[in-house]
Amino acid sequence: MPLSPLLRLASYLTKPNRANTFNLFPLISFSTTASSEQNHSPPPPIRVALTDSAGRGVFSTRPIAAGDLIHTAKPALCHPSLSAIHSVCYSCLRKLPISNHSQPQRVSFCSHDCQRRSNEYFDVEMKANWMAFDDYCRTHGLKYPFLVRRLACMVIAGVAKSDSLDILQPANLTPNMISVMEEEFALLRNAFTKIFIADEHIAFLTKQWYISVLARIRINAFRIELAGGLYEDLLSSAVASVEAEAAVGNAVYILLSLYNHDCDPNAHIIWVDNANAKLKALRDIDEGEELRICYIDTSLDRHARQELLYQGFGFQCNCSRCLQGD
Ligand SMILES: [Zn+2]
Ligand SMILES: [Zn+2]
Repeated sequence: MPLSPLLRLASYLTKPNRANTFNLFPLISFSTTASSEQNHSPPPPIRVALTDSAGRGVFSTRPIAAGDLIHTAKPALCHPSLSAIHSVCYSCLRKLPISNHSQPQRVSFCSHDCQRRSNEYFDVEMKANWMAFDDYCRTHGLKYPFLVRRLACMVIAGVAKSDSLDILQPANLTPNMISVMEEEFALLRNAFTKIFIADEHIAFLTKQWYISVLARIRINAFRIELAGGLYEDLLSSAVASVEAEAAVGNAVYILLSLYNHDCDPNAHIIWVDNANAKLKALRDIDEGEELRICYIDTSLDRHARQELLYQGFGFQCNCSRCLQGD
């Protein structure tokens, strides 16, 4: 893996006031039941530390039983997929009641809370004309530019910082990939400049910024499929083998991006009813053990896994399953 993200993380970890907590707690909420998320809860049983060989990683701070919910992670950024844009909440990706589908031209929110929380960036977004940008993305089958647009609107609205994803590892981009992004960037920038936003508010919106954000989203975004079904059932089964519905959107989580990969993972992410990700133990985990998730489909054979991990994430997997040739 390239060193730069590790160095960036190392400096982040050693900043005063962040050294012990790594500022994790605003990103996650801990709960043992769905309804206790609002309560004052103990901190999640995890810590971030450097591993021997794979840079930073997430470790358990106590024994965790198979099937336990380890923590919930809120997205730093999420956006519905185009196919679900009128059927899920524009903010949290929760499925909307069928009656809300009656105005197919509009996006909707699942609650006043979601609407209120998205007000700032939604106001910015609504001022601009996105027809050219949307058409371009739709024609080219692009999903990640919508996440960049949302971040740009959040930055303009003052609810996010332009460097908020900088801590994440970027994908390696070829010159060809970069030249393709230039068109999307021009359409995005154009839509904003046409609504006469003051220059200082979009000074961050350079081609370099666009490419750097997209490079991070490409490697760190999760495709969200809502598991549906009963929450208790999901938690009681050690392995969530629930039939997932089609993807409702994509999201980026700072915390989840700190988890390393394993083709035989001990933890697993599920989405039950919205973009809040739930990290679940797949087997009994010892105190101090590294928690690892699988970035790809575990059922693939070794060759396919190695290929996908190298192409998509830029590393050669040396997990014990790969080393055993399984
Ligand atoms: Zn919502
Ligand atoms: Zn592996």
